[in-house]
Amino acid sequence: STGACEEEASRISVAVRCRPLSNSEKNNEVVDICRVMDQRLVILLDPGAASTDYLRHDKSKEKRFAFDQAFDPETSNQQIFQATTQPLIGSILQGFNCSVFAYGSTGAGKTFTMIGTQQSPGVMSHTVDSLFAQSGSDPCVSIVCCFIEVYNEVLRDLGSKDGREGMLDLREDPVTGPSLTGVTEFQAQSVEDVMKLLQEGNQRRTTEPTAMNVTSSRSHAVFQVRVERRDLRSEAVTLGKLSLIDLAGSERASQTHNSGMRLLEGANINRSLLALGNCINALASGSVFVPFRDSKLTRLLKDSLGGNCRTMMIANVSPSHLSYEDTLNTLKYANRAKNI
Ligand code: ADP
Ligand code: MG
Repeated sequence: STGACEEEASRISVAVRCRPLSNSEKNNEVVDICRVMDQRLVILLDPGAASTDYLRHDKSKEKRFAFDQAFDPETSNQQIFQATTQPLIGSILQGFNCSVFAYGSTGAGKTFTMIGTQQSPGVMSHTVDSLFAQSGSDPCVSIVCCFIEVYNEVLRDLGSKDGREGMLDLREDPVTGPSLTGVTEFQAQSVEDVMKLLQEGNQRRTTEPTAMNVTSSRSHAVFQVRVERRDLRSEAVTLGKLSLIDLAGSERASQTHNSGMRLLEGANINRSLLALGNCINALASGSVFVPFRDSKLTRLLKDSLGGNCRTMMIANVSPSHLSYEDTLNTLKYANRAKNI
């Protein structure tokens, strides 16, 4: 029935990706406490009881979670794309809005998953690649991208070459939905162009030194791809939008030992992350009121969450025993999101 179809379409799918230990972690006797089994189970060993010998560790203290999908450290960015985002491409071409979030604490692999490197392009590049392969040569289809940042509850254009100003205004039209005035739009011509936009844009993300990381742990990066298809006979236009989001670090502000302005910024980032969680919970419980207005991020994504939209959450975790608390928090958050 149609009802079942809509229910299926509005479902949130949750995947967990565990990154490999880095060489420096291996050299510093960091213990891998994360196990992925049957492509859907994640087992977190107790850091105190963990042994490098899995057979000898204390199983009574391990924590087990099941997700729609779980990816072990061997999984490539290409495989992540194929399993999480590729299935949404058809919906976009049919005029649905979809969103894919990378969630997790700083250092867990969100940016690697979404943006990636020259050698291992992330989900954002693979998405454009796939859209091009399907409709790049179709004169009736136009693919337009933009890349923006939500930092400290301010929207900034990451696609703008003119310096760091680039503050954007969010307009909300009851019919056409949220739009950004003056945002740099890229009529995508090639995958290489888009990769360049992503790498350069990522360099423009707000950075500031903190106790935890010198990179942009408080900034959300949103890559939006708008696909417009014009029917030659009827002139009807089908518009679908895919939002790919590299979220700010989910670790608690208190753990970064920040104070003053930094703490305030941390609170604001938490506001967008918190609001996202609240919107997801409201959508899950079928509530008529979804608090989209509570943050810039949720206002921006209002037309890409719930309703007929499909949402994919990729929760990233580090396997290090030093990240136990963050990993546990991420698995709990992801576990709540999947009950939708
Ligand atoms: P985040 O964006 O969540 O703070 P990053 O994506 O920057 O984390 O990842 C932290 C480090 O780990 C980076 O050096 C990144 O290249 C590396 N990394 C993350 N995920 C993987 C992976 N699946 N395979 C190899 N290296 C990874
Ligand atoms: Mg990052």
